[in-house]
Amino acid sequence: MIPESVEILSKYLKINTTNPPGNEVKAARFFAAIFEKENIPYRTYESQPGRVSLKATLTGSGQKGPIILLNHMDVVLANPGEYALDPFGGEIVDGYICGRGALDMKGIGVMQLMAILAMKGEAVSLNRDLVFLAVADEETGGSLGMKYLMENYPEDFKAVLVLNEGGQGFSNMVPDKTVMLLATGEKGPCWLKLSGKGPSGHGSTPHSRNALVRMTKALNRVLAVELPVIITPIVEEYFKKLSSEWSFLDPFKKDGQHKTLARVLKKSGMLEVPQINAMVRNTISLNLLKAGHKINVIPDYAEAQLDIRLLPGQDTRAFIDFIKEALADIEIEIEVLLASPGNVSDTDNDDYLIIQDVVNDHFKNPLMPLYLMSGITDSRFFREKGITAYGFFPVVVPVEHLSMIHGLDEKISIDNLIKGTAVYIDLVRKLCT
Ligand SMILES: [Zn+2]
Repeated sequence: MIPESVEILSKYLKINTTNPPGNEVKAARFFAAIFEKENIPYRTYESQPGRVSLKATLTGSGQKGPIILLNHMDVVLANPGEYALDPFGGEIVDGYICGRGALDMKGIGVMQLMAILAMKGEAVSLNRDLVFLAVADEETGGSLGMKYLMENYPEDFKAVLVLNEGGQGFSNMVPDKTVMLLATGEKGPCWLKLSGKGPSGHGSTPHSRNALVRMTKALNRVLAVELPVIITPIVEEYFKKLSSEWSFLDPFKKDGQHKTLARVLKKSGMLEVPQINAMVRNTISLNLLKAGHKINVIPDYAEAQLDIRLLPGQDTRAFIDFIKEALADIEIEIEVLLASPGNVSDTDNDDYLIIQDVVNDHFKNPLMPLYLMSGITDSRFFREKGITAYGFFPVVVPVEHLSMIHGLDEKISIDNLIKGTAVYIDLVRKLCT
């Protein structure tokens, strides 16, 4: 017999919620039908036609503040031509449930669903409200999902703990141990558009005010700057946990100094690993250039877009000033396309200890380092309001599987779904009773 979680995920993966256009109303109806049947009260929120989020609640005694199990229903584009199987087929093959969203994050959504259904089924009295929240539009920034909900219905989303995507477990990050990352913070995006103008002209007679040439020279000045390594508290904690396993960290394990950590990361070559580098530095990625239209015409305009990610605690304004200075070209204009600060939740609470205990109970030789995400999730909308939000995904996969997220042939093993569901149910039970 196919376990219920597997059946539900397989059906859920068949619902195409590629964003844009999202069309999350189909997924919200899917959840609504389940909550109807189980007699769990829910309501929906529509930010735009078809862009629906859903909140289901089991009411507790209110002794503790509410917990929100947060998941997004939308997924990023999957090109069927590049997928071995239909990305919206929900097929079960070789012990895996396959399809876009299996990891990011319909799989987690199903674990959270099973947890609220289990609490309803056990008819235990809860000491706090337990909320299942499936939202639209995470993948393009949340303006029709979590951001919309927070701006328009702030009273409905008060909580003391949010469990969301972000962290996850790895089988092969260190030998003989399961590393279960708990995401407690995120870097902040600072997206800049740079533009410069200059006189046009004929390509046969170059002049010194070519807008494109000036832009590339200025960009080269910015990109040549070696940004300093900055050790934030989450990252310090991350390497402290891993120092028992990674011998190159020995000098840092001994003296605990940030400058020692920075030195050993550099010496060991770890800063060459993009994921590690992004954890300890502000980063600048040049991702877009626009200029010119003909080989023999000097363009009168050039534009570049920089995807900058700042560590928590950084001053966005000061960083933009640094960019301005490094460009060293006063005629290049800077427009801020998006800026939101890095954000962090602390672990100074009982709920964190419960998560730690549950991980210790369920996984072999677990290590649970805190993790700073370089990307963004909907957790930021809660952290902005001082609500603790953790990224927790109790599956254990090889590090290589990370490439499936937003990549090809996304899938989750049946074992991981079943085990992760059991962990989620146990965790929610302990958090709420
Ligand atoms: Zn996601």
